[in-house]
Amino acid sequence: FRGRKLIAQIIPFESRRQILVTHDATETERIEEMRRDFIANASHELRTPLTVIVGFLEIAASEPSLDAETRAAHVKLMVEQGHRMQRLIEDMLTLSRLESVDYPLRAEQVNIRAVIDDVVSEARALSGGKHEITSEVDAPDMMGNAEELRSAFANLASNAVRYTPAGGKVHISWRAVPEGLQYEVKDTGIGIEAKHIARLTERFYRVDKSRSRETQGTGLGLAIVKHVLLRHNGTLSIHSEPGQGSSFIATFKQA
Ligand code: ADP
Repeated sequence: FRGRKLIAQIIPFESRRQILVTHDATETERIEEMRRDFIANASHELRTPLTVIVGFLEIAASEPSLDAETRAAHVKLMVEQGHRMQRLIEDMLTLSRLESVDYPLRAEQVNIRAVIDDVVSEARALSGGKHEITSEVDAPDMMGNAEELRSAFANLASNAVRYTPAGGKVHISWRAVPEGLQYEVKDTGIGIEAKHIARLTERFYRVDKSRSRETQGTGLGLAIVKHVLLRHNGTLSIHSEPGQGSSFIATFKQA
């Protein structure tokens, strides 16, 4: 609230500076609010699995004669919740690295076909044969960071699998358009209502929290995608029809 105090001091003296400071304060407050929201959300997301783990540990401590089967079931649940915390922390670290100004993009010529082959294998493994997953590479390679692009492309592909019921289709493509090079993931899944679309890349924004959790989502995937695209001169457009499916298109401007 340093900005606020400054306004109170400046207003009586000079009205032109008042506008400038008000603007700064609003921006500072907005960033401060986003930071607070992020910490609140992240703490909440971490607290939930931790509560489960601590709960089972307390049972283990207070009931040493628990039968082996129950104990094994508790351990399994604790491991799952531990993994959930690990995924969350990994995604938070990835996001903060991508946002850091001291983290320059290490660009090289990226073999897009190899990246997409990886992404397809990963998506097929996640699907477990329940979806028809196809791909098409029909454009030249691009400059960028292979690992960052792989992670952004894989995020979009895994979302397509996670939000498409069994029996659905996912198509991944790489093509050239007049604006540049395009990566698209198209699915025949549950789709997204128009009112949610603009907010999907916000951290922890989810249309349906329980579906996201059941499929191991952290709510940070699209925020990571957005940052990787920003670093690669790319933009994301989302087209979707509830009940019909969605298409996520990353367009990379080429000089
Ligand atoms: P999550 O880990 O929850 O999937 P993301 O940031 O990757 O987080 O996505 C944010 C939200 O966007 C998801 O919770 C989901 O509601 C929606 N979403 C993302 N991709 C799709 C898709 N292909 N089809 C339908 N909804 C999607």
